[in-house]
Amino acid sequence: MGLTRDFFIKLSENQALNAAAKRYGLALGANKVVAGVDIPSTIKAIRVLNAKGITATVDNLGEFVFSKEEATKAKNEILAMIEAIHESGVKAHMSIKLTQIGLDVDEEFCYENVREILLKAHACGNMHINMDTEDYKHTMQTFAILDRLKGEFKNVGTVIQAYLYRATEDIDQYQDVRLRLVKGAYKEPAEIAYQSKEDIDENYIKLIEQRLLNAKAMTSIATHDHDIIDHAKRFIAQHNLNKELIEFQMLYGFRTELQEQIANEGYQFCVYVPFGQDWYGYFMRRLAERPQNLQLVTKSIFTP
Ligand code: FAD
Repeated sequence: MGLTRDFFIKLSENQALNAAAKRYGLALGANKVVAGVDIPSTIKAIRVLNAKGITATVDNLGEFVFSKEEATKAKNEILAMIEAIHESGVKAHMSIKLTQIGLDVDEEFCYENVREILLKAHACGNMHINMDTEDYKHTMQTFAILDRLKGEFKNVGTVIQAYLYRATEDIDQYQDVRLRLVKGAYKEPAEIAYQSKEDIDENYIKLIEQRLLNAKAMTSIATHDHDIIDHAKRFIAQHNLNKELIEFQMLYGFRTELQEQIANEGYQFCVYVPFGQDWYGYFMRRLAERPQNLQLVTKSIFTP
């Protein structure tokens, strides 16, 4: 299992394969977990979700951005998607990764790009913008940018990774900021992060409870873990918490029956909808996370 995970992580980081994949449309079964390669096909996919009472947080896929030109191109794609969401009237907001809009090029340049995105989103019906968190170094930079922007903008939020020891303090620090709570997707050292699934799950549950009792803004519980979802539902009922300020999130294409079931039970549900030509790294990380997802590849090869 460990080897498989590392194998797919390595594949996800391979820049040559990444570049080659861009030349092909969604291949290898990626169309099951990536909504589209362009804006119109993605809006269409969001309409299908909306019809089921599910909203979307849209992610413009993109990796290995090390120049201002690439970062500006990605920012413009995000701005175009914000406009398309607004004009089409679909129920959706956006998730962005700061490394895609220049965090590795120049932090100040990235900050200005985020600001421009927030201004545009504000003009488009005060749309929410979530800043995804990445590996530890970039996550700390993302929080520093959030700290500069959260006074000026109310439509910005971020993600707390439960594997980090510091997550408890971060949740207290951002009580009035919209937060997504996740287990955490990167490989971090034991000095800063829990390592075992048991420890991460235990801390995740603790953080969900801490946040739900103290939040002054929306909380998104983003997990495919049915045990944790059930625990959260029981906690919400026991404490009679306001469901307007809570939603569940999952990735596009995963556990779709469960997604619909939770939405039908009267909870807010939001699906993370990745789109774009740069689908390869995202897809490989999903395979690394859960080797059973390889079924997507085999099905695509063997289904005519
Ligand atoms: P896991 O620990 O992967 O799974 C727990 C259990 O759930 C499994 O043992 C299995 O029983 C069941 N299960 C899980 N998946 C399936 C499935 N497909 N089918 C059937 N059963 C299943 N990470 C970040 O670091 N930063 C981010 O910004 C970020 N944003 C995210 C946004 C969303 C909407 C989601 C869903 C995840 C995000 N993540 C992010 C990733 C997250 O940190 C985890 O790596 C990822 O969600 C896998 O953990 P899990 O909570 O789904 O549960």
